Amino acid sequence: MNCPFCHIHNLIVENELATTFYDSHPLNQGHLLIITKRHVSTIFDATPQERLAIFSLLDICKSLLDLAFEPNGYNIGMNCGEAAGQTVSHLHIHLIPRYAGDMESLKGGIRGLIRRDGGIYGLSNQDKQRVPMTGTSFST
Ligand code: 5GP
Ligand code: ZN
Repeated sequence: MNCPFCHIHNLIVENELATTFYDSHPLNQGHLLIITKRHVSTIFDATPQERLAIFSLLDICKSLLDLAFEPNGYNIGMNCGEAAGQTVSHLHIHLIPRYAGDMESLKGGIRGLIRRDGGIYGLSNQDKQRVPMTGTSFST
């Protein structure tokens, strides 16, 4: 398969179902990616075991980055689908260390990804009624 993430060799840490490596075009010092070993497109295609595996590595990588780079915070992100900016269609979580003062304006944090003005989308009552089962409680 012509997928760069299926052919990664320079891993940082791994477990049975997931692995991690530095992003080749880091947004900040220590920016890394956590992926499933199996080629699936997004988190919505992953099994419960794979989800546990990537989130387990998320914690481990956070501890490792804390030790190595002492960041002041993190952004964690997944682009799911081309429309959301996903360029490599193999599930990956971006773990991006943040350093105090690394951006001029911090307004909105991750919200700035889509609305740089810090504004909000005006969700109408009609929109809300389109979501089925609103108000339902599910057991975990
Ligand atoms: P996306 O835009 O799909 O969420 O993110 C893909 C990320 O993978 C980008 O940040 C890009 O820099 C990184 N990337 C793309 N190809 C490679 C590669 O071959 N090796 C590594 N280490 N990172 C890659
Ligand atoms: Zn792949």
